[in-house]
Order: sequence, then C-alpha cells, then structure tokens
Amino acid sequence: MHTVTIHARAAASLRTIAGTDAGGRYEQRLAAAREVLQGRSVWHVNSTSAGGGVAELLRSCLGYLVDDGIDTRWMVIDGDPEFFTITKRIHNRLHGVLGDGGPLGDAERRHYDDVTRSNAIDIRRSVRAGDVVVVHDPQPLGLVPVLRSLGATVIWTCHIGADTPSPLVRSAWDFLVPDARAAQAITFTRAAYAWDGLEADRVHVLPPCIDHGSPKNVAIDPERTFAILRAAGLISGLGDGGDATFARSDGTQGRVSHRAQMTQEAPPPSDVPVVVQVSRWDALKDPLGVIRGFFDEPSITGSHLMLAGPMPGTVVDDPEAATVLAEVHELWESLPAPHRGRVHIANLPTDDAEENATIVNALQRHADVVVQKSLAEGFGLTVTEAMWKGRAVVAGRVGGIRDQIEDGVSGILVDPRDLTAFGNAIGSLLADPSLASGLGAAAEHRVRERYLAPQYLGAYLQLFAELA
Ligand code: UDP
Repeated sequence: MHTVTIHARAAASLRTIAGTDAGGRYEQRLAAAREVLQGRSVWHVNSTSAGGGVAELLRSCLGYLVDDGIDTRWMVIDGDPEFFTITKRIHNRLHGVLGDGGPLGDAERRHYDDVTRSNAIDIRRSVRAGDVVVVHDPQPLGLVPVLRSLGATVIWTCHIGADTPSPLVRSAWDFLVPDARAAQAITFTRAAYAWDGLEADRVHVLPPCIDHGSPKNVAIDPERTFAILRAAGLISGLGDGGDATFARSDGTQGRVSHRAQMTQEAPPPSDVPVVVQVSRWDALKDPLGVIRGFFDEPSITGSHLMLAGPMPGTVVDDPEAATVLAEVHELWESLPAPHRGRVHIANLPTDDAEENATIVNALQRHADVVVQKSLAEGFGLTVTEAMWKGRAVVAGRVGGIRDQIEDGVSGILVDPRDLTAFGNAIGSLLADPSLASGLGAAAEHRVRERYLAPQYLGAYLQLFAELA
C-alpha cells in the first residue's frame, strides 16, 4: 500500500459556503467528533489516488478535516492487473452489467484474497486499535475483517449500486457480503442501493459532495476560462496567450501548460456552442451513445460536441479504458465528414492533478450544455460539478443522478437508452438559452443545499462520533 499526502485546506469557508445553518451543524458535529477522536487517527483506504469520483472526493475534501484538527490519513492499496480486472468485473456487476463476462468463482476469490493479504501486511503497520477506518468500494473491502481484528472501527462506503438488483448484481453482493458484514457501518450513496443481507441499522445513506474550493470548482472568469482552454489545446480563436494560471491548494500558483491529446479535425472556435461530457473512458458512461444521440437531433446544426477524459492507462483500477476509447475513435472515424468536424475527443493531461482539474473546471464552465448520459451511476460527481457552475445538465435518469437532478427544475433527465430523447433535450436547451440559464441557477442552488463539503464531512463526523 502507499500513503497519499493530504495537505491541510483552510476550513473556515465550510462555516458559510452552504449557509450558516449548515455551517453551524458542521461545527456541532466537528466538536462532538473531536472529543471522541482524541488520540485516534481516521484513515481512508481506496484503490487509486487519481481518476474517478472517489479519488476526487478524498483529494479535495480530506484537507479540511486536517485543518479542523482531525488526524486524517489516506492509503491506497496495491494490486496487479488481474486483481483490477476482477474488481472491475465486480464494479460492473454491482451496476447491473456483465462487463467482460468473466467468472467470479473460487479462482477469483483466491486471487482477491491473496492481494488483500499482501495489502494487510502494510495496513497492520499503520492502523492502531481505536482508529477509525473508512474503506471505499469493493477493491479494498477484503481489509475490513483485518482492520476489525486490529481493533479499529470500520466503515465500508459503497459508491456504486444498481436501481434494480438483478441476479448479476446479486452475484457481486454474494462475493462481497461476508466482508461487508464485518464493518460496523456501511454507507451507500442512495437508500435504494442497500443490499439484502446487511443489518438495516448498520446502513447509512451518505451522498458524496464536491469541494467548492478546489481547482475543479473555484470560480474562473470567462477570459481566464478561454486562456486555460487555449493553453490545453481545447479551443481555438481569440488570439494567443492570456492568463492560464490557477491557484493550487497549497497556496502556490500553477499554470496550465500541458496540452490535451486531441482526436479532431480542428479545435472548436471559441464562439461556437459546445456540448461537453467529462468522464473516464468507461462503457457505462456511454460515450458512443453520446455521439449518436447528438446527431440524432436534426436541430443541432452549429454546435460542437466534446468528450473529455483522462489519458488512458493513467487510472490504475480502470483496465477497460483503452478499449472503450478505441471504440470512440472508431466511431469518430466512421462519421460523415461534416459531423466528424464537430466532434472532439480530448485526452486531458494527467501529469498534474490540479492542472487536470483546472482544465475540467474551464471546460464545464465553457459548455453551453453539460451531458452525463450514464447507463448506470452510483452518484455522478461530474453532474454535481456542472450544476455548481450553473450549467444546464442533461443526464441519464439512473442511480444517484435521479436524486441529484429534479427533472425539469434543476436539469433534464432522460432515459439514457433513448437517443432521440437525449438529442431532443440537448436541442431544446441550445435553442432556448433562458431555459438553460434557469435550470442552471436552480442547479447551483440545489448543490449548495445538499452536496457541498459541510454536509458530507459533517455526516461522516457524526457517524464517527456515534461509532467510535
Ligand atoms: N475527472 C477528471 N478528469 C478527467 C475525467 C474525469 O478530473 O479527465 C473527474 C470528474 O471531474 C469527476 C470524477 O473524475 O470529479 C468522476 O467522478 P464521477 O462520480 O462522475 O464518476 P466515476 O469516475 O466515479 O464513475
């Protein structure tokens, strides 16, 4: 296992950003947790330090707790490619899809347990009796019984789930449930995701948040937005240069200097409307469906579509990314020439996580419409990020997204398998900017009320105080 350094982040803004009531509740929960946690560490354990929603959540929010006096640590498990193929299979099945179609039998169990045992050697050296450990998602779940035997208080947090538990979903539950039962508390992103076979009073619902103060979400003015996108090679026009700097979480200044790897005929001019989806290259984000749906709507004539994701191979627990991206490229090449010129596939630079976050931030702000046409989604952080920026979002009516967006009020929900409905929704927003800005304003309000760090961290602190 390896440790990820958490830099303290000034936590004063947690008292005000979501309103003073939410700030006050956070203070109360913090005070109670501080008392209980004296002399104890709170550990988070997951499977990657970069790429995907969990890494995003931990990277951005844990620093606030450090500043607020909670001894918070983050460790990432190691695994070989076979392990991550197995855990991706579990991930897909928990979402109700077959994925690579491989088995989840005794051989997979043995390999999963071998990797767990080797990670357990490291964790035994770090975690002490009385510590609190939050274990995220299926990859490190096998460590839960180990941690309990060390005398730690253990919470297992599951960020994924299926709307309807099919036999496929249950096959993943069967694989995981003995270890999950060993946790004193289990959190899901929505109530409907709770599994059979778990004690109801151990189950908690805890939707994740975004960090208002991170490079991913801080306000950027339009000029700097253009400069950042130009520096990353994502748009053309409006001259060269401009201020592509950003504030790092450690207080220093960064500058966007790495360029995205683009598959496109030419960058979109800065003044054309753009529809954007930002996602890992994952079949459940349905990038092929996004392209097809976009061209299914005849009224979308002048707008461009940008699909952005990390460089493949950079997200260690995501072994299917290269295949999905290859399919996206293949579809792009097969598009008729006029369509091809309006589709841009961006592999965003990942050398520097805060630069990557800044580019995503600028891209979401630049978008006329943000889409997230996921076929399954535990809870879509990209949706919350776009809502916070006042964007009009069109998203799949699946999973946690159904809680995030109230259809027709703070965004538009569509059946993600209905390409026509998806295209229509985009077309209606592009044709009616006042509709788009109204939805965007309501979206920002909804995020402020529900999905910011004071609410999320406060809920965890309350759980720590109850359990420890
Ligand atoms: N993300 C990013 N760079 C990328 C692609 C995605 O920073 O190139 C971030 C995105 O902004 C979001 C997270 O990765 O914060 C994805 O979280 P989400 O819950 O939407 O999906 P997941 O990847 O966890 O399935």
